[in-house]
Amino acid sequence: MKTVLITGGARGIGKACVEKFASNGWNVAFIYKSSDLKAQELATKLNALPIKCDLTDSDAVKTAVSSVVDKFGAIDLLVNNAGISYTGLLQEMSDNDWASVINTNLTSAFYTSRSVIPYMLRQGDGVIVNVSSMWGVTGASCEVAYSASKAGIIGFTKALAKELAPSHIRVNAVAPGAIATDMLNEYSEADLKSIADETPLGTIGKAESIADAVYFLAGDSAQFITGEVLNVNGGFVI
Ligand code: NDP
Repeated sequence: MKTVLITGGARGIGKACVEKFASNGWNVAFIYKSSDLKAQELATKLNALPIKCDLTDSDAVKTAVSSVVDKFGAIDLLVNNAGISYTGLLQEMSDNDWASVINTNLTSAFYTSRSVIPYMLRQGDGVIVNVSSMWGVTGASCEVAYSASKAGIIGFTKALAKELAPSHIRVNAVAPGAIATDMLNEYSEADLKSIADETPLGTIGKAESIADAVYFLAGDSAQFITGEVLNVNGGFVI
């Protein structure tokens, strides 16, 4: 049985990934930061391993990764999904807010990947899927730090794909468009309607659609794909 570690798995896109892999027979471990109740309920329902861990804490990430290997013996797939958004003018952004976005969205993928890769090298294969954003592809006004972190994830994905391909480890990214999760709570109904209207496929996306893309990239159907960014955005960015 294969094992996946998913970050940010208690809610939203990460939760949809947890459900997708668990229902397809994988051992699932997932990291969350503060959603204790949601994490426990999900873990109990799906027999998954919940790990409370702040992904901006390098030592805590090492411990979290070790606990997955202790429990399941391996990590075949790492899904770097956890993230936060920040909306505001760049000139008004504090040092702390900037660091928080970059550390949560980008540095965390470094911490998790650095810890997981040695196990994958020992196994002789593995897959990493990183969750970027369409704003990492195009940039978004009033989301400069977020866009920079997500563009960073794309560069990270491409470089790491080249570095690990000779070791039979594939690294890809998914770049979602607007997806109905808590992350969109700051938008009004009118804003959400106008995003849906601007989307060629005419709707806000579902978390399950991103989980489907991650599942595809994780599997043998994608065995010759590495360093790729899969846009899942209803045509918003083509
Ligand atoms: P949610 O806000 O619904 O969930 C975010 C998850 O990340 C939560 O489980 C949260 O943990 C976890 N998390 C945040 N910070 C940390 C941290 N420091 N340590 C550990 N876990 C942390 O977001 P989405 O599901 O919408 O987003 C998932 C990914 O998809 C993000 O990377 C986001 O940028 C990206 N994305 C989302 C889009 C959207 O429209 N929704 C569009 C494009 C990209 P906890 O539950 O404990 O708070």
